Amino acid sequence: MLRKDIRNVAIIAHVDHGKTTLVDAMLKQSGVFRANEVVAERILDSNDLERERGITILSKNTSIFYKGVKINIVDTPGHADFGAEVERILNMVDGVLLLVDAFEGPMPQTKYVLRKALEQNLKPIVVINKIDRPDQRVDEVLDEVLELFIDLDAPEPFLDFPVVYTSAKQGIAKLSMDENSSNLAPLFETLIKEIPIPDGDVEAPFQVLVTTLDHDEYIGRIAIGRVMRGKITNKQNVLVLNGYEERKAKISKLFTYEGLKRVEIQEAMFGDIIAICGIDEIKIGETIADPNEPEMLPGIYIDEPTVSMI
Ligand code: GDP
Repeated sequence: MLRKDIRNVAIIAHVDHGKTTLVDAMLKQSGVFRANEVVAERILDSNDLERERGITILSKNTSIFYKGVKINIVDTPGHADFGAEVERILNMVDGVLLLVDAFEGPMPQTKYVLRKALEQNLKPIVVINKIDRPDQRVDEVLDEVLELFIDLDAPEPFLDFPVVYTSAKQGIAKLSMDENSSNLAPLFETLIKEIPIPDGDVEAPFQVLVTTLDHDEYIGRIAIGRVMRGKITNKQNVLVLNGYEERKAKISKLFTYEGLKRVEIQEAMFGDIIAICGIDEIKIGETIADPNEPEMLPGIYIDEPTVSMI
């Protein structure tokens, strides 16, 4: 079964190429944004914190609605120290937006994360941003991006990547430089057309791979991940698997994302990116599974002290 109402995409960019500005502009132009919501400020807040630390430390989920499709955008840290985290985050998505500054061209972090995305066979869309810059050199940058793909041994079909030209700052996107545009619709349309639709079995025993953790002072530890298979219901019993032990637990709350907010839901199915509460000891990399037919997802990440999956 196809989830035509969902697209899961990661955004990859070297620092300062405009990731925050672009997601902010997408939020503003999507149905989720309400006039009285100060979304922009919240994004900038967390970004400032990251700047202070010099690296992107958190992976954030942002959900944007466009023509009835929910686009989940997950942020990827670009720093090489976060290799395992990048791989985990990329596990949640079906494609990537590779955002490149129209003057600077691809930079080390662009290359680093693109390599990881290609290793996972994720379909890329190239977004050349800051086309309003007087010093833009769009054509050369596009050649440099193609060289990068060749350099990284990208599979043949990916060399023919879709390209969208944007000015995140002006909130516009176009499919060719000589086109006129007054909004980001061409970017949304490309995303919906090119990012593969989640395909899965809703009747299968459910599996959620825990990708990141969050914490809320009232509700405690929150596990964030993608429902890989089946359907999961609030208040249900689950089994947590990690390859060396199984733990029983019960879900106390289930959330989806809308804009930057968590919204409570009663049920989610494959393709959804969700947040789960009630499993106090949950760790990154663990599988939350159907207690009747528990099956672990491939245990992938063994290079962190918090996860030991052998
Ligand atoms: P991030 O580090 O990738 O999240 O980058 P930001 O979104 O914070 O943007 C970095 C800088 O580039 C900021 O000063 C933005 O105002 C600027 N910027 C982002 N998008 C554009 C754009 O389309 N055109 C121009 N001229 N500047 C941009």
